[in-house]
Amino acid sequence: MNLDLTILPGDGIGPEVTGQAVRVLQTVADAFGHSFQLQRKNIGGAALAASEDPLPPDSLQACISSSAVLLGAVGNPAFDHYPNHLRPEAGLLRLRRELGAYANLRPAICFPALVECSPLRPELIRGVDIMFVRELLGGLYFGEPRSIEGEPGWRVAINTMRYHEPAIERIACVAFALAEKRRRKVLSVDKANVLECSRLWREVVTRTAKDYPSVKLSHMYVDSASMALVQRPRDFDVVLTENMFGDILSDQAGGVVGSLGLLASASIGGPVGLYEPVHGSAPDIAGQGIANPLGAILSAAMLLRHSFQLEREAACIENSVGAVLAQGYRTADLASAGQKKLTTSEMGSIVVEAVKKSAEAVSTAKERSA
Ligand code: NAD
Repeated sequence: MNLDLTILPGDGIGPEVTGQAVRVLQTVADAFGHSFQLQRKNIGGAALAASEDPLPPDSLQACISSSAVLLGAVGNPAFDHYPNHLRPEAGLLRLRRELGAYANLRPAICFPALVECSPLRPELIRGVDIMFVRELLGGLYFGEPRSIEGEPGWRVAINTMRYHEPAIERIACVAFALAEKRRRKVLSVDKANVLECSRLWREVVTRTAKDYPSVKLSHMYVDSASMALVQRPRDFDVVLTENMFGDILSDQAGGVVGSLGLLASASIGGPVGLYEPVHGSAPDIAGQGIANPLGAILSAAMLLRHSFQLEREAACIENSVGAVLAQGYRTADLASAGQKKLTTSEMGSIVVEAVKKSAEAVSTAKERSA
Protein backbone atom coordinates (compact mmCIF):
# COMPACT_ATOMS: atom_id res chain seq x y z
CA MET A 1 0.00 0.00 0.00
CA ASN A 2 1.18 3.54 -0.68
CA LEU A 3 1.02 5.62 2.50
CA ASP A 4 0.91 9.17 1.17
CA LEU A 5 0.76 11.56 4.07
CA THR A 6 0.93 15.24 4.84
CA ILE A 7 2.79 16.03 8.03
CA LEU A 8 1.94 19.30 9.78
CA PRO A 9 4.51 19.57 12.60
CA GLY A 10 3.06 22.91 13.80
CA ASP A 11 4.35 24.73 16.88
CA GLY A 12 6.19 24.18 20.15
CA ILE A 13 6.73 20.48 20.79
CA GLY A 14 4.75 19.58 17.62
CA PRO A 15 7.86 19.14 15.40
CA GLU A 16 9.65 17.18 18.16
CA VAL A 17 6.87 14.61 18.64
CA THR A 18 5.84 14.27 14.97
CA GLY A 19 9.51 13.66 14.10
CA GLN A 20 9.42 10.51 16.25
CA ALA A 21 6.00 9.43 14.94
CA VAL A 22 7.33 9.66 11.37
CA ARG A 23 10.33 7.46 12.28
CA VAL A 24 7.93 4.85 13.68
CA LEU A 25 5.69 5.03 10.59
CA GLN A 26 8.73 4.60 8.33
CA THR A 27 9.80 1.54 10.34
CA VAL A 28 6.32 -0.03 10.11
CA ALA A 29 6.14 0.71 6.38
CA ASP A 30 9.56 -0.96 5.80
CA ALA A 31 8.71 -3.95 7.99
CA PHE A 32 5.31 -4.65 6.40
CA GLY A 33 6.26 -3.80 2.80
CA HIS A 34 4.39 -0.52 2.27
CA SER A 35 5.74 2.47 0.42
CA PHE A 36 5.79 5.71 2.33
CA GLN A 37 5.60 9.23 0.88
CA LEU A 38 5.28 12.39 2.87
CA GLN A 39 5.29 16.10 2.50
CA ARG A 40 5.78 18.51 5.40
CA LYS A 41 3.77 21.73 5.51
CA ASN A 42 3.25 24.63 7.89
CA ILE A 43 0.26 25.30 10.12
CA GLY A 44 -0.46 27.50 13.14
CA GLY A 45 2.20 29.88 14.45
CA ALA A 46 4.87 28.38 12.16
CA ALA A 47 2.67 29.24 9.16
CA LEU A 48 1.83 32.71 10.51
CA ALA A 49 5.53 33.51 10.86
CA ALA A 50 6.15 32.45 7.26
CA SER A 51 3.02 33.74 5.51
CA GLU A 52 0.65 35.59 7.88
CA ASP A 53 -1.94 32.82 7.37
CA PRO A 54 -2.37 30.04 10.00
CA LEU A 55 -3.47 27.64 7.22
CA PRO A 56 -1.76 28.70 3.96
CA PRO A 57 -3.38 27.48 0.70
CA ASP A 58 -0.49 25.13 -0.16
CA SER A 59 -0.78 23.42 3.27
CA LEU A 60 -4.53 22.94 2.81
CA GLN A 61 -4.08 21.69 -0.76
CA ALA A 62 -1.44 19.17 0.36
CA CYS A 63 -3.78 17.86 3.08
CA ILE A 64 -6.76 17.54 0.73
CA SER A 65 -4.73 15.68 -1.88
CA SER A 66 -3.11 13.16 0.50
CA SER A 67 -4.67 10.07 2.09
CA ALA A 68 -4.18 11.20 5.69
CA VAL A 69 -2.73 14.04 7.74
CA LEU A 70 -0.56 13.78 10.86
CA LEU A 71 -0.41 16.97 12.92
CA GLY A 72 1.79 17.87 15.92
CA ALA A 73 0.19 20.79 17.75
CA VAL A 74 -0.59 24.44 17.17
CA GLY A 75 -0.33 27.39 19.55
CA ASN A 76 2.28 30.04 20.25
CA PRO A 77 1.91 32.71 22.94
CA ALA A 78 3.59 35.23 20.59
CA PHE A 79 0.34 35.32 18.57
CA ASP A 80 -2.10 35.45 21.50
CA HIS A 81 -2.85 39.15 20.86
CA TYR A 82 -3.74 38.54 17.18
CA PRO A 83 -7.42 38.76 16.09
CA ASN A 84 -9.30 35.46 16.34
CA HIS A 85 -9.04 34.48 12.66
CA LEU A 86 -5.27 35.05 12.67
CA ARG A 87 -4.42 33.02 15.78
CA PRO A 88 -2.61 29.69 15.30
CA GLU A 89 -5.65 27.76 16.59
CA ALA A 90 -7.80 29.27 13.79
CA GLY A 91 -5.70 27.31 11.29
CA LEU A 92 -6.52 24.03 13.00
CA LEU A 93 -10.25 24.77 13.30
CA ARG A 94 -10.35 25.70 9.61
CA LEU A 95 -8.45 22.53 8.65
CA ARG A 96 -10.92 20.32 10.56
CA ARG A 97 -13.81 22.01 8.79
CA GLU A 98 -12.19 21.86 5.33
CA LEU A 99 -11.48 18.14 5.80
CA GLY A 100 -15.07 17.51 6.96
CA ALA A 101 -13.61 15.75 10.01
CA TYR A 102 -16.72 15.72 12.20
CA ALA A 103 -15.89 12.71 14.40
CA ASN A 104 -13.08 13.05 16.90
CA LEU A 105 -12.08 9.73 18.48
CA ARG A 106 -10.02 10.06 21.64
CA PRO A 107 -9.08 6.84 23.42
CA ALA A 108 -8.07 7.12 27.09
CA ILE A 109 -6.40 3.85 28.10
CA CYS A 110 -4.59 3.02 31.30
CA PHE A 111 -1.52 1.01 30.28
CA PRO A 112 -0.94 -1.64 32.98
CA ALA A 113 2.64 -0.38 33.47
CA LEU A 114 1.42 3.14 34.17
CA VAL A 115 -1.11 2.48 36.91
CA GLU A 116 1.16 4.34 39.34
CA CYS A 117 1.20 7.47 37.09
CA SER A 118 -2.47 8.14 37.76
CA PRO A 119 -3.47 10.45 40.60
CA LEU A 120 -6.24 7.91 41.35
CA ARG A 121 -5.90 4.77 43.47
CA PRO A 122 -4.74 1.68 41.48
CA GLU A 123 -7.99 -0.22 42.09
CA LEU A 124 -9.96 2.63 40.47
CA ILE A 125 -7.75 3.11 37.43
CA ARG A 126 -6.58 -0.42 36.52
CA GLY A 127 -8.21 -1.57 33.26
CA VAL A 128 -9.64 1.82 32.24
CA ASP A 129 -10.35 1.82 28.49
CA ILE A 130 -12.55 4.68 27.31
CA MET A 131 -13.28 5.86 23.78
CA PHE A 132 -14.50 9.44 23.60
CA VAL A 133 -16.49 10.23 20.46
CA ARG A 134 -16.58 14.01 20.27
CA GLU A 135 -18.56 15.98 17.69
CA LEU A 136 -15.94 18.24 16.12
CA LEU A 137 -17.57 20.66 13.71
CA GLY A 138 -20.51 22.09 15.65
CA GLY A 139 -21.36 23.70 18.95
CA LEU A 140 -19.79 26.76 20.52
CA TYR A 141 -16.46 26.52 18.71
CA PHE A 142 -18.05 27.13 15.29
CA GLY A 143 -21.48 28.70 15.99
CA GLU A 144 -22.34 32.13 14.56
CA PRO A 145 -22.86 34.86 15.61
CA ARG A 146 -19.72 35.28 17.68
CA SER A 147 -18.15 38.56 18.72
CA ILE A 148 -16.91 40.91 21.40
CA GLU A 149 -18.75 44.23 21.01
CA GLY A 150 -19.21 47.56 22.74
CA GLU A 151 -17.22 50.17 24.58
CA PRO A 152 -14.41 49.20 26.96
CA GLY A 153 -15.91 48.58 30.39
CA TRP A 154 -19.31 47.71 28.81
CA ARG A 155 -18.29 45.12 26.23
CA VAL A 156 -20.46 42.10 25.55
CA ALA A 157 -19.06 38.76 24.34
CA ILE A 158 -21.23 36.39 22.30
CA ASN A 159 -20.77 32.76 21.32
CA THR A 160 -23.46 30.56 19.83
CA MET A 161 -24.09 26.88 20.48
CA ARG A 162 -25.90 25.44 17.48
CA TYR A 163 -26.63 21.83 16.46
CA HIS A 164 -28.54 20.49 13.45
CA GLU A 165 -30.28 17.11 13.72
CA PRO A 166 -28.21 15.52 10.89
CA ALA A 167 -24.96 16.55 12.61
CA ILE A 168 -26.10 14.84 15.82
CA GLU A 169 -27.30 11.75 14.00
CA ARG A 170 -24.07 11.17 12.05
CA ILE A 171 -21.83 11.43 15.13
CA ALA A 172 -24.20 9.16 17.08
CA CYS A 173 -23.88 6.55 14.29
CA VAL A 174 -20.06 6.65 14.65
CA ALA A 175 -20.35 6.06 18.40
CA PHE A 176 -22.83 3.18 18.09
CA ALA A 177 -20.79 1.50 15.34
CA LEU A 178 -17.66 1.68 17.51
CA ALA A 179 -19.57 0.38 20.53
CA GLU A 180 -20.64 -2.69 18.54
CA LYS A 181 -16.97 -3.68 18.35
CA ARG A 182 -16.33 -2.95 22.05
CA ARG A 183 -18.43 -3.51 25.18
CA ARG A 184 -21.69 -2.47 23.50
CA LYS A 185 -22.29 0.50 25.77
CA VAL A 186 -22.71 4.16 24.80
CA LEU A 187 -22.95 6.93 27.36
CA SER A 188 -24.27 10.14 25.80
CA VAL A 189 -23.21 13.23 27.76
CA ASP A 190 -25.20 16.45 27.56
CA LYS A 191 -26.72 19.23 29.66
CA ALA A 192 -30.35 18.58 28.72
CA ASN A 193 -31.65 20.08 31.97
CA VAL A 194 -30.45 23.53 30.85
CA LEU A 195 -29.61 23.68 27.13
CA GLU A 196 -31.95 23.37 24.13
CA CYS A 197 -29.03 22.01 22.08
CA SER A 198 -28.68 19.19 24.58
CA ARG A 199 -32.41 18.41 24.56
CA LEU A 200 -32.32 17.98 20.79
CA TRP A 201 -29.06 16.01 21.17
CA ARG A 202 -30.67 13.57 23.63
CA GLU A 203 -33.77 13.12 21.47
CA VAL A 204 -31.80 12.41 18.28
CA VAL A 205 -29.29 10.09 20.01
CA THR A 206 -32.16 8.11 21.58
CA ARG A 207 -33.86 7.79 18.20
CA THR A 208 -30.62 6.74 16.45
CA ALA A 209 -29.98 4.07 19.10
CA LYS A 210 -32.97 2.10 17.77
CA ASP A 211 -30.85 1.19 14.71
CA TYR A 212 -28.25 -0.43 17.00
CA PRO A 213 -30.31 -2.79 19.18
CA SER A 214 -27.28 -4.65 20.58
CA VAL A 215 -25.86 -1.44 22.13
CA LYS A 216 -27.09 -0.20 25.50
CA LEU A 217 -27.52 3.59 25.59
CA SER A 218 -27.47 5.69 28.74
CA HIS A 219 -27.43 9.46 29.30
CA MET A 220 -25.68 11.65 31.85
CA TYR A 221 -25.38 15.40 32.45
CA VAL A 222 -21.87 16.69 31.81
CA ASP A 223 -21.35 17.82 35.43
CA SER A 224 -22.26 14.35 36.78
CA ALA A 225 -20.16 12.69 34.09
CA SER A 226 -17.13 14.74 35.05
CA MET A 227 -17.53 13.63 38.67
CA ALA A 228 -18.12 9.97 37.76
CA LEU A 229 -15.05 10.00 35.52
CA VAL A 230 -12.81 10.35 38.57
CA GLN A 231 -14.96 8.24 40.92
CA ARG A 232 -15.46 5.18 38.69
CA PRO A 233 -13.63 5.59 35.36
CA ARG A 234 -13.80 1.84 34.62
CA ASP A 235 -17.57 2.07 34.10
CA PHE A 236 -17.06 4.25 31.00
CA ASP A 237 -16.74 2.65 27.58
CA VAL A 238 -17.86 4.71 24.56
CA VAL A 239 -18.65 8.30 25.56
CA LEU A 240 -20.57 10.30 22.96
CA THR A 241 -20.69 14.04 23.38
CA GLU A 242 -20.69 17.45 21.70
CA ASN A 243 -17.65 19.54 20.84
CA MET A 244 -16.81 21.52 23.99
CA PHE A 245 -17.93 18.89 26.53
CA GLY A 246 -15.79 16.35 24.65
CA ASP A 247 -12.79 18.67 24.61
CA ILE A 248 -12.92 19.11 28.38
CA LEU A 249 -13.88 15.55 29.41
CA SER A 250 -11.23 13.91 27.23
CA ASP A 251 -8.47 16.10 28.71
CA GLN A 252 -9.78 15.21 32.16
CA ALA A 253 -9.52 11.55 31.20
CA GLY A 254 -5.91 12.24 30.17
CA GLY A 255 -5.21 13.44 33.69
CA VAL A 256 -6.97 10.37 35.08
CA VAL A 257 -4.86 7.88 33.09
CA GLY A 258 -1.58 9.61 33.85
CA SER A 259 -0.31 12.04 31.24
CA LEU A 260 -1.71 14.18 28.48
CA GLY A 261 1.42 13.28 26.51
CA LEU A 262 0.11 9.73 25.99
CA LEU A 263 -3.22 10.55 24.43
CA ALA A 264 -3.86 10.10 20.71
CA SER A 265 -6.73 11.22 18.53
CA ALA A 266 -8.29 10.67 15.13
CA SER A 267 -10.60 13.15 13.41
CA ILE A 268 -12.52 11.28 10.75
CA GLY A 269 -15.75 11.36 8.77
CA GLY A 270 -14.54 13.34 5.74
CA PRO A 271 -12.50 12.10 2.77
CA VAL A 272 -9.14 12.68 4.54
CA GLY A 273 -8.51 11.75 8.18
CA LEU A 274 -6.58 14.05 10.54
CA TYR A 275 -4.52 12.48 13.35
CA GLU A 276 -2.93 14.37 16.23
CA PRO A 277 -1.95 13.93 19.85
CA VAL A 278 -4.49 15.46 22.23
CA HIS A 279 -1.93 17.72 23.90
CA GLY A 280 -1.10 21.24 22.76
CA SER A 281 2.19 22.87 21.82
CA ALA A 282 3.45 22.91 25.45
CA PRO A 283 5.48 26.14 25.18
CA ASP A 284 6.81 25.52 28.71
CA ILE A 285 8.91 22.55 27.54
CA ALA A 286 9.29 23.25 23.80
CA GLY A 287 12.83 23.04 22.43
CA GLN A 288 14.15 21.04 25.39
CA GLY A 289 13.81 17.62 23.73
CA ILE A 290 11.92 16.20 26.71
CA ALA A 291 8.34 15.97 25.37
CA ASN A 292 6.64 12.61 25.43
CA PRO A 293 6.22 11.46 21.80
CA LEU A 294 3.90 8.53 22.61
CA GLY A 295 0.65 10.47 21.98
CA ALA A 296 1.92 11.33 18.49
CA ILE A 297 3.16 7.76 17.91
CA LEU A 298 -0.20 6.31 19.01
CA SER A 299 -1.93 8.83 16.71
CA ALA A 300 0.13 7.33 13.85
CA ALA A 301 -1.29 3.92 14.84
CA MET A 302 -4.83 5.36 14.62
CA LEU A 303 -3.93 6.77 11.19
CA LEU A 304 -2.96 3.30 9.92
CA ARG A 305 -6.16 1.78 11.35
CA HIS A 306 -8.72 4.36 10.29
CA SER A 307 -7.33 5.78 7.02
CA PHE A 308 -5.66 2.63 5.61
CA GLN A 309 -7.46 -0.23 7.44
CA LEU A 310 -4.00 -1.57 8.41
CA GLU A 311 -5.12 -3.16 11.66
CA ARG A 312 -2.09 -5.43 12.03
CA GLU A 313 0.34 -2.52 11.58
CA ALA A 314 -1.64 -0.31 14.00
CA ALA A 315 -1.65 -3.07 16.61
CA CYS A 316 2.10 -3.54 16.10
CA ILE A 317 2.70 0.09 17.13
CA GLU A 318 0.27 -0.07 20.06
CA ASN A 319 1.75 -3.33 21.36
CA SER A 320 5.26 -1.91 21.01
CA VAL A 321 4.33 1.17 23.06
CA GLY A 322 2.79 -1.11 25.71
CA ALA A 323 5.96 -3.26 25.75
CA VAL A 324 8.29 -0.26 26.04
CA LEU A 325 6.29 1.08 28.98
CA ALA A 326 6.20 -2.38 30.59
CA GLN A 327 10.01 -2.49 30.37
CA GLY A 328 10.11 0.69 32.45
CA TYR A 329 11.08 3.28 29.81
CA ARG A 330 9.72 6.72 30.74
CA THR A 331 9.87 10.31 29.52
CA ALA A 332 10.02 13.04 32.17
CA ASP A 333 6.22 13.44 32.41
CA LEU A 334 5.84 9.74 33.33
CA ALA A 335 8.96 9.08 35.39
CA SER A 336 8.67 8.70 39.13
CA ALA A 337 11.47 9.58 41.56
CA GLY A 338 14.66 7.67 40.75
CA GLN A 339 13.51 6.53 37.29
CA LYS A 340 15.67 7.42 34.29
CA LYS A 341 14.07 10.13 32.13
CA LEU A 342 14.39 9.51 28.40
CA THR A 343 14.54 12.34 25.90
CA THR A 344 11.96 12.58 23.11
CA SER A 345 14.30 11.02 20.54
CA GLU A 346 15.52 8.29 22.92
CA MET A 347 11.91 7.23 23.49
CA GLY A 348 11.33 7.33 19.71
CA SER A 349 14.37 5.08 19.13
CA ILE A 350 13.22 2.56 21.71
CA VAL A 351 9.74 2.35 20.15
CA VAL A 352 11.35 1.96 16.68
CA GLU A 353 13.39 -1.02 17.98
CA ALA A 354 10.30 -2.54 19.62
CA VAL A 355 8.32 -2.15 16.38
CA LYS A 356 11.09 -3.94 14.43
CA LYS A 357 11.05 -6.82 16.91
CA SER A 358 7.26 -7.06 16.95
CA ALA A 359 7.08 -6.98 13.12
CA GLU A 360 9.73 -9.75 12.92
CA ALA A 361 7.68 -11.87 15.31
CA VAL A 362 4.56 -11.32 13.16
CA SER A 363 6.37 -12.36 9.95
CA THR A 364 7.99 -15.44 11.62
CA ALA A 365 4.56 -16.54 12.85
CA LYS A 366 3.17 -16.05 9.33
CA GLU A 367 6.00 -18.12 7.76
CA ARG A 368 5.41 -20.92 10.27
CA SER A 369 1.69 -21.06 9.56
CA ALA A 370 2.26 -20.97 5.74
P1 NAD B 1 -0.64 21.79 26.53
O1 NAD B 1 -1.29 20.51 26.21
O2 NAD B 1 0.24 22.35 25.49
O3 NAD B 1 0.21 21.65 27.89
C1 NAD B 1 -0.39 21.36 29.15
C2 NAD B 1 0.69 20.77 30.09
O4 NAD B 1 0.99 19.43 29.68
C3 NAD B 1 2.01 21.53 30.05
O5 NAD B 1 2.57 21.54 31.33
C4 NAD B 1 2.88 20.71 29.13
O6 NAD B 1 4.26 20.81 29.38
C5 NAD B 1 2.37 19.30 29.37
N1 NAD B 1 2.47 18.49 28.15
C6 NAD B 1 1.68 18.58 27.05
N2 NAD B 1 2.08 17.70 26.15
C7 NAD B 1 3.13 17.04 26.65
C8 NAD B 1 3.98 16.00 26.16
N3 NAD B 1 3.83 15.47 24.94
N4 NAD B 1 4.98 15.57 26.95
C9 NAD B 1 5.14 16.08 28.19
N5 NAD B 1 4.38 17.04 28.72
C10 NAD B 1 3.38 17.54 27.95
O7 NAD B 1 -1.81 22.81 26.88
P2 NAD B 1 -1.74 24.39 27.17
O8 NAD B 1 -0.49 24.71 27.92
O9 NAD B 1 -3.05 24.72 27.73
O10 NAD B 1 -1.66 25.07 25.73
C11 NAD B 1 -0.45 25.48 25.10
C12 NAD B 1 -0.78 25.92 23.68
O11 NAD B 1 -1.25 24.80 22.93
C13 NAD B 1 -1.88 26.99 23.59
O12 NAD B 1 -1.51 27.89 22.59
C14 NAD B 1 -3.12 26.21 23.18
O13 NAD B 1 -4.04 26.99 22.46
C15 NAD B 1 -2.51 25.14 22.30
N6 NAD B 1 -3.29 23.90 22.20
C16 NAD B 1 -3.29 23.30 20.98
C17 NAD B 1 -3.95 22.08 20.84
C18 NAD B 1 -3.88 21.40 19.49
O14 NAD B 1 -3.01 21.71 18.69
N7 NAD B 1 -4.77 20.46 19.20
C19 NAD B 1 -4.59 21.47 21.92
C20 NAD B 1 -4.53 22.10 23.17
C21 NAD B 1 -3.87 23.32 23.31
